Amino acid sequence: MTINSEMAKEEPYLMYKAKEKGVVNEGNNLFEGYSKDLADLISNNLQINYELRLVKDSKYGALDANSHQGWNGMVGELIRHEADMAIAPLTITSARERVIDFTKPFMSLGISIMIKKPVKKNPGIFSFMNPLSSEIWMCVILSYVGVSVVLFLVSRFSPREWRYEDTLLGPHVSNDFSFYNSLWFSLGAIMSQGCDVCPRSVPGRIVGSVWWFFTLILLSSYTANLAAFLTVERMVTPINSADDLAKQTEVEYGVLRHGSSMDFFRRSKIAVHQRMWEFMHSKQNVFVDSSREGIRRVRDSKGKYAYLIESTQNDYVNERMPCDTMKVGRNLDAKGYGVATPLGSSIRDSLNLAVLFLKENGDLTKLENKWWYDRSECKIKEKKDANQSELTLDNVAGCFYILIGGLILAMIVALMEFLLKSQMESKRNNLASDSFTTTST
Ligand code: ASP
Repeated sequence: MTINSEMAKEEPYLMYKAKEKGVVNEGNNLFEGYSKDLADLISNNLQINYELRLVKDSKYGALDANSHQGWNGMVGELIRHEADMAIAPLTITSARERVIDFTKPFMSLGISIMIKKPVKKNPGIFSFMNPLSSEIWMCVILSYVGVSVVLFLVSRFSPREWRYEDTLLGPHVSNDFSFYNSLWFSLGAIMSQGCDVCPRSVPGRIVGSVWWFFTLILLSSYTANLAAFLTVERMVTPINSADDLAKQTEVEYGVLRHGSSMDFFRRSKIAVHQRMWEFMHSKQNVFVDSSREGIRRVRDSKGKYAYLIESTQNDYVNERMPCDTMKVGRNLDAKGYGVATPLGSSIRDSLNLAVLFLKENGDLTKLENKWWYDRSECKIKEKKDANQSELTLDNVAGCFYILIGGLILAMIVALMEFLLKSQMESKRNNLASDSFTTTST
């Protein structure tokens, strides 16, 4: 028996075979893909021949209010007995089940969101600041000044901090903790370097201990996070769920016209989906006539268009060059694809059994691996990206800038000190020589 089997041209379900030199492909052999392989397995199983052809209007099937024919696409052709069987990513829905027959699902899926992969942001030259938020940095600076001030004050008040020295000029009292030294002590601790001056008084040591404890925790947390912040190229996805899409209008989103996904939004009773449907319906231009168009729009719109596509196709496209799309969020629903036949078809029961058999013996999983993951074009690219884990100059350039800045500042200050000192010396010398000439005259 030869049956008329129809399919939709949709990657990776059905594609034209690439032309090979010296090989002339004809008939069913013009095509390749998951649906074609599935059709071969089914025809083997049922011992039938099939003749493959594409659906005329390139649609899956929806009730077309404008057409006197009712249903369009593959569903319409099955209803009108223009084909005996449809092997395609045709979603099983209640509306369709009323007018055609479906086998048990051969693949499970759900509507998902496809967005353009955001460009990875290289960590900036000051990425060593990132492990702590700007508020924390502000608090650390304030704490540093606060601790230095308190240390200075308690050292002034505490008698143990005062040192009595007998000098040639007579007894002299001194205190190590000038405000300048207090700042130096606190800085030494937070840089985990220490310094020569150490508090001797009890209150001074209390301040020192709590400051050391504070810096211990702060530095440990900082160090623990540092490596990740220096190397990780952050990928900030603006949209992460259907909720995110519904909440905004900047990123447009759309769905395939005349398909089950469009129907899903039209009929959904869930508030988020209803809001999404209102947006899409009011815009109209967000609907696309083929998945290919939707995917192209995602790729060309610089992140301003998200496509609501079935998860199976989403997964496939994300594995194809130029590897610039990604799936975000959970699936919006759960459903399956079935092989469809006209109502009451004679092969319906045997077809159902064949699909179940192929599913159970792992043939369908093998097919899925063959067309989805074995042909992945993005694994090599991801591997390459993952290998680049060593730090580059870009990652740590900021540290060098600070070092160079510090050295230059030190030299400028030293020069200024020198000039100031020379000016004072020359003034003093001038004064001395003036007074010498006055006394000698
Ligand atoms: N597979 C779908 C269908 O059967 C296509 C879609 O609407 O996403 O209509």
